[in-house]
Amino acid sequence: LKRVVVVGAGFGGLEVATHLRGVPVEVTVVDRNNFHTFQPLLYQVATAGLNAADVAPAVRGLFHRQANVAFRRGSATGVDWENRRLFLAEQDPLPFDHLVVGAGSVTNFFGVPGAAEHAFPLYTLADATRLRNHVLERFEAAESHPDLVADGALTFVIVGGGPTGVETAGALAELIHAVLRKDFRGTLDVARAQVVVVEMEPALLGAFHPASQRHALDTLRSRRVEVRLGARVSAVEPTRITLAGGEIISAHTLIWAAGVQANPLAGALGVAQGRGGRIVVDADLSIPGHPEAYAIGDIAHVAAGDGALPQLAPVAMQAGRHVAAQIKADLEGGRSKPFRYVDKGTMATIGRRAAVAELPHGLRLSGTPAWFAWLGLHLLYVAGNRNRLSVLLNWGWSYLTWDRGPRLILRSEEP
Ligand SMILES: Cc1cc2nc3c(=O)[nH]c(=O)nc-3n(C[C@H](O)[C@H](O)[C@H](O)COP(=O)(O)OP(=O)(O)OC[C@H]3O[C@@H](n4cnc5c(N)ncnc54)[C@H](O)[C@@H]3O)c2cc1C
Repeated sequence: LKRVVVVGAGFGGLEVATHLRGVPVEVTVVDRNNFHTFQPLLYQVATAGLNAADVAPAVRGLFHRQANVAFRRGSATGVDWENRRLFLAEQDPLPFDHLVVGAGSVTNFFGVPGAAEHAFPLYTLADATRLRNHVLERFEAAESHPDLVADGALTFVIVGGGPTGVETAGALAELIHAVLRKDFRGTLDVARAQVVVVEMEPALLGAFHPASQRHALDTLRSRRVEVRLGARVSAVEPTRITLAGGEIISAHTLIWAAGVQANPLAGALGVAQGRGGRIVVDADLSIPGHPEAYAIGDIAHVAAGDGALPQLAPVAMQAGRHVAAQIKADLEGGRSKPFRYVDKGTMATIGRRAAVAELPHGLRLSGTPAWFAWLGLHLLYVAGNRNRLSVLLNWGWSYLTWDRGPRLILRSEEP
């Protein structure tokens, strides 16, 4: 049997493996984590809306009923193209006949001094748990040392007014003003906490229609989020943030939602890279010069118009399905086909009963209908029935009770 090695159990990688069901190949999915991360809901883990496990099913469990898929926990470091082997850190190389690279992105701090050391990115499950620990710890610290509030302990700055920044700001404001206010009643003036979004462009949600941008701005402001448009962070220190122009904000927390770049694995493959370090692929998603290998999802630079397809889950999923079909066609002696992305629209939630959705044919939704559409779609895409049920239960509980579940300061080791 031909060996298909898929690097990354992300949105794209899982889709490749799933769509090779029943195809006479041996598939090995390699990931440095033994779980899949549903990134669009990481901000809910960070703001104590969901448990970490709700958004991260174990990969082995997802393939219990698919005999031709195996999982290998390991970190890919490079490829021996001549002998068709994938190098793994501290393990023997994995031989392949077809390789699919879907290792996603990493945070891009754009060289802002201090950002890599002191900012909180929101890209992995570990990032989300670390941020939740930190936010809750700041409230505990401010209760025992009230002078820390003036020092910025309860000021939470979010850099980037794209969907991740907007979603995080809305959820954090709700956690603070609806939940922590009750947790710390009588002992800490939680109303002094501030959530600030810093966006360098003149509008939030850059890729959306101006009406959606306006809706996001008005909603966040009405929920006590300060939005600073046309402002840029120029330096980050543990307790203060400097904006271009010299203004200093005292804040113990800077959440980095400003951008991504291709996973460094792209650079280790010795292939052509495009903007953001993404692997340039041919129209059928194969890597030029390596017809047996494909790149999909965030790590791939798929030409579209003057630029490239956006780094979104549906792009990765559709690419994964396309590559599975390509591999199948190759086994059957069929012809290679170009990938065609079908844009089904984009959404961003702003908080309870507030979201914007832009659908095909110019259809736009905002407020409660968009929020329900967002909830339904995300529920549908969460991998694993157990996770789906758990997310639904958590959302239902929070919606009805205005309470949030996992407000744990959880360390892997006791202090
Ligand atoms: C906070 C956040 C919110 C988002 N919200 C949305 C949204 O609302 N809607 C939307 O469409 N998109 C959203 N996105 C983007 C979306 O999550 C990505 O486009 C999508 O995950 C890309 O899928 P992928 O398969 O390319 O990579 P990923 O899903 O990132 O998967 C990559 C996998 O590769 C593994 N990996 C990385 N390096 C190695 C290595 N060297 N060896 C082995 N394994 C490795 C990782 O552990 C990971 O499991 C969001 C992203 C983030 C970070």
